[in-house]
Amino acid sequence: MKTESIQQYDPIINDAIKKELHRQENGLEMIPSENFVSPAVLEALGSVVTNKYAEGYPGKRYYGGCEHIDTIEQLAIDRAKQIFGAEHVNVQPLSGAPANIAAYFAVLKPGDTILGMDLSHGGHLTHGHPVTHMTQVFQFKRYKTNTKGEIDIENLREMALAHKPKLILVGYSAYSREIAYEKIQAIADEVGAITMADIAHIAGLIAGGEMNNPVPIFDIITTTTHKTLRGPRGGMIMCKEKFAKYIDKSVFPGLQGGPHENNIAAKAIAFKEALEPKFKDYAKQIKANAKALEKVFHANDYTLCFGGTDNHLLLIDVTSKGLTGKDAEEALDKAGITVNKNMIPDDPRSPFNPSGIRLGTPALTTRGMKEKEMEIIAQYINEAITYHKNEERLHEIREAVRLLTKKFPLYTSL
Ligand SMILES: *Cc1c(COP(=O)(O)O)cnc(C)c1O
Repeated sequence: MKTESIQQYDPIINDAIKKELHRQENGLEMIPSENFVSPAVLEALGSVVTNKYAEGYPGKRYYGGCEHIDTIEQLAIDRAKQIFGAEHVNVQPLSGAPANIAAYFAVLKPGDTILGMDLSHGGHLTHGHPVTHMTQVFQFKRYKTNTKGEIDIENLREMALAHKPKLILVGYSAYSREIAYEKIQAIADEVGAITMADIAHIAGLIAGGEMNNPVPIFDIITTTTHKTLRGPRGGMIMCKEKFAKYIDKSVFPGLQGGPHENNIAAKAIAFKEALEPKFKDYAKQIKANAKALEKVFHANDYTLCFGGTDNHLLLIDVTSKGLTGKDAEEALDKAGITVNKNMIPDDPRSPFNPSGIRLGTPALTTRGMKEKEMEIIAQYINEAITYHKNEERLHEIREAVRLLTKKFPLYTSL
């Protein structure tokens, strides 16, 4: 067997990994779906657990030698149940998108109708974007937000009554407000629909007690584990006991083969971290930091979609500042600040060059940054947007950003 390190055996890959570490250390990561995992989570991902096949579930495997794998997977399940108060948990989904596909097939038949939020109002690709395979299988109908930026509950009810969906879907990628799960559950009860919440973005805020928890209310909850929950790249499904066997069968053998148990070990560690009292402080700080950004953007006359934020992210219409989302993303990149261009509700522009940018605080909060740093960073963003054509100015901001990041080191042991 080869025993060399990456550095000795594959210098090109080693160099790219080192450069990626350097990029993460020296820039401001404000993509709201990104975060930095702990060294313990990284260690589990790179462990020998990756070698093991373990099709099936703890205690019911199709392969021998799974005794230690069972310990790992059962612990991940038990910790997730404790965090969210779930009746049943499946930790095998490889990521958020396959978790959603598995959930759809667990309870729906081809041709069934799903009522989800309009994608330009914050919904995710997997909630019925025409480019995804699921739109060939299921019929997606869409509700929207109202002019105040709240989910339009009346419109949602009317659509539910008109289309009689089998599934009502909430949980979003670019929506910055709280969700009233009870009201939506009441509409679902009225039309006999199953409820599903995709908490991919906000799972960490829910775990930390900073946002409403749909798990005790809704039928099925899907999530990623790598966004605010700060675990490894992966997915998870929680559900009421009555859907347990359908969910498990849908994940395996319905959709996936052997589970990635190294990843599940890393999920278990991240869940242990999320159960610590410190994680509550983390979740609180994520929100406080987003509010601090909101304050500066409001003061500088930015158009914040949905009127502002209750969570970790902000969706900003930058067109009133004389540029597009793509221009803003590029200018901020040059200034060492990573955000992503994003559609705004009913965006008249295209997804490749939309009107908005989306940014958030989970990764910066993991670095230890607080309100004071957010005020400085919001000013840098404002400056980069205002002077987006001035390369020299952008370069100066990048230098200031680098100095700021030096005060908040990441991964000092790597
Ligand atoms: C990120 C996200 C997903 C998809 O997760 P992947 O891990 O990228 O497949 C699904 N739903 C929502 C709401 C998301 O934000």
